Amino acid sequence: ADWVAAVAAVRRWLPDGRILLVCHVNPDGDALGSMLGFAHGLHRLGARHVQATFPGPFDVPDPLREVPGVDRLVPETEAWTHPDLLVTFDAASTDRLGALASRLGTARDSVVLDHHASNPGFGAVRLVDPAAAATSVVVEQLLDRLDVPLDAEIAECLYTALTTDTGSFRFAATTPAVHQMAARLVATGIHPGEIAQRVFDSRPLGAVKLFGEVLGRCELDQDAAAGHGLCWTTATLADLEKHNQRPHVLEALIDSVRCVAEADVCVVLKQIGEDTWSVSMRSKGAVDVSRVAGLLGGGGHRAAAGFTGTGTPADVLASIRSELDGAVIR
Ligand code: 5GP
Ligand code: MN
Ligand code: MN
Repeated sequence: ADWVAAVAAVRRWLPDGRILLVCHVNPDGDALGSMLGFAHGLHRLGARHVQATFPGPFDVPDPLREVPGVDRLVPETEAWTHPDLLVTFDAASTDRLGALASRLGTARDSVVLDHHASNPGFGAVRLVDPAAAATSVVVEQLLDRLDVPLDAEIAECLYTALTTDTGSFRFAATTPAVHQMAARLVATGIHPGEIAQRVFDSRPLGAVKLFGEVLGRCELDQDAAAGHGLCWTTATLADLEKHNQRPHVLEALIDSVRCVAEADVCVVLKQIGEDTWSVSMRSKGAVDVSRVAGLLGGGGHRAAAGFTGTGTPADVLASIRSELDGAVIR
């Protein structure tokens, strides 16, 4: 990783340069937490002009509303068109930056912070560590090299990010180094219990009922890929309307589907247009779902990936099934 170049690119624009921070569309805890943690770090370094934004609908998921700095996010329409420095967070490819990808061409410097193995490489300086459990791991290291000490505000952001992408320290990427980072963050005085309550264990009654209905429609195909079971369900715009919920509540749905014991691969199709679907996939290890997603125009990690599918749900499932055998890890 190009730490020296990244540190130089940031220092070059302190304190008066215009620094634009961008994370991926439909931001999750890692995207928002990494970006806002870095924003606080820049302020500690004396940066006077920092914007943090993300593309697409300007809608922060309720579980992330209290991440420090959310109230200072700016909508993409207000983002500087010609920033001095662009820093991207948790975006595996330029399309995840939506219209803000144009800043890669107009910014004078750019630094890409990410941890997706599928990242094709973009931006002038690339800090992409596929071994990192979260982008926030990369952010903590960069802040350390910039001599920014951790404080509770930064830690609250980075802890939210780390706990999101490790599934509360349950996923395979949860190494000793991850727990050591968590220990440094918690030592600043933040409250992990309260963060977990807000991020994972809080949703409106309407969302619980919506989940019940969508989970009730789960189907299981036990021979989907060389004997590996596939479990899937669909959540439609009509479901959202019926229960008066916003689309982001569906982000957590895959976590209820992926516990189906008979399935190695779990899929949730979330309707985003008449015949377009945001597809979430999870694998228990036998299948590399980032391979499937990559072949279908998306990306992600071996165990968690996604893409945008078109057609009927049956069409989208057929496209997934057709790539599954080739994605079995042998
Ligand atoms: P989720 O299912 O939680 O939305 O996403 C799981 C993983 O897949 C994330 O690491 C995310 O980066 C990746 N992912 C999800 N949707 C897309 C997509 O449309 N395109 C790409 N390139 N990656 C995606
Ligand atoms: Mn993410
Ligand atoms: Mn991430």
